Amino acid sequence: MVIQKFGGTSVATSERREQVIDKVLESLNQGYKPVLVVSAIGRDGDPYATDTLIDFAENVHERIDSRAQDLLMSCGEVISTTVITQALKARGYEAEPLTGAQAGIITNEEFGDAKIKEVNTHRIQEILDENKIPVVAGFQGVSKNREITTLGRGGSDTTACALGAALHAEMVEIYTDVEGIMTADPRIVPNAKTLKHISYDEVCELAYQGARVIHPRAAEIAKRERVPVIIRSTFSDAEGTVISNAFEQEEIEIKGDKPVTGITSRNNLVLIKIYPKAQQKDATALGCFKVLADAEVSVDFINVRPDLISFMINDSLQNKAAELLDEENYNYEIFNNYIKVSIVGAGMTGIPGVMAQVVKALADNEVSIYQTTDSHTTISCLIEAEDEEISLCALHDYFKLG
Ligand code: ADP
Ligand code: MG
Repeated sequence: MVIQKFGGTSVATSERREQVIDKVLESLNQGYKPVLVVSAIGRDGDPYATDTLIDFAENVHERIDSRAQDLLMSCGEVISTTVITQALKARGYEAEPLTGAQAGIITNEEFGDAKIKEVNTHRIQEILDENKIPVVAGFQGVSKNREITTLGRGGSDTTACALGAALHAEMVEIYTDVEGIMTADPRIVPNAKTLKHISYDEVCELAYQGARVIHPRAAEIAKRERVPVIIRSTFSDAEGTVISNAFEQEEIEIKGDKPVTGITSRNNLVLIKIYPKAQQKDATALGCFKVLADAEVSVDFINVRPDLISFMINDSLQNKAAELLDEENYNYEIFNNYIKVSIVGAGMTGIPGVMAQVVKALADNEVSIYQTTDSHTTISCLIEAEDEEISLCALHDYFKLG
């Protein structure tokens, strides 16, 4: 059995949906039983599709509550399942559309960003036993209290990987509008190249650091459950990128002087600077981390000096963080003109001087670096947002990824 996930751009037009059906038939012809996961028509590639629904609701009522908002946002995927089911039937194949709830995707009740807790595959299994193709709505689930929830933008990838793990699928295929995971986002770095394979660790890092080709939580599930994943294009016959660990050793050896696998950026962060007041002892000032942690605001890129504490948070949490810091009387400022660029590569572990090369590549292009961090597979730099494109292109060239 294979899971085949089709993103928003893949199901956007009737011509494209025919190409989707071709991919399903290919897997049937190879003897697999496909389970489909679909995004809303136009959702991921075109953020306006989702926003249109929300704008519409907000025009009717002042402010839609999060429970109702999730219910509304789940509609796009449901429509998609019925459209794809019809397209399959038109070509002579039996299929059954399922909402996330019907497919047994059980989540917590964190509306807008719910986490999958359990998958009951019973219904999908029945449909497979009848030799029909289950077509599951991605991006959504249901809580124990029967509330409809959504998994956050890009969440259909998570649905696909969670189903892959629960059904012990031989493969999860994520079909999208690029030929696989590339050395950088081709929309920013035109000479980015498609990778043949990549390790779970690297793909998790790339996804977490902003490469939206796969959702970070999907990558995490794949890594934890060792689900074999392939990312490939709906619109070509290219082989795509295989995510697994089998190649890791060989890859590192082949790379030799290429310690970097891919580069990416995150531009959905804001930088918060806290200026401790004279009477605030260190411990009191550092209490901000506890205040934020208690409210589940995760912080990144932390820098602590006696006169300054700075860190980054997701921009969607900006208001929540500001409220908390106000309550505790902190003196702070919020900046949204910074982004984080990262280079990722299992091959950089233990190779000295990679940070120096990053600094040189950026300095040669007159990009100012405000802060850096490194872990064994990732080096990140805080830079001004307007330097995003030049930085990514400079690093891509410097590490010869093109
Ligand atoms: P889908 O609707 O299929 O889920 P997405 O728009 O979510 O598609 O993801 C595909 C997009 O991810 C590509 O069009 C590309 O612009 C972007 N992207 C960002 N980083 C990378 C990368 N490293 N490799 C490939 N694509 C990337
Ligand atoms: Mg996506």
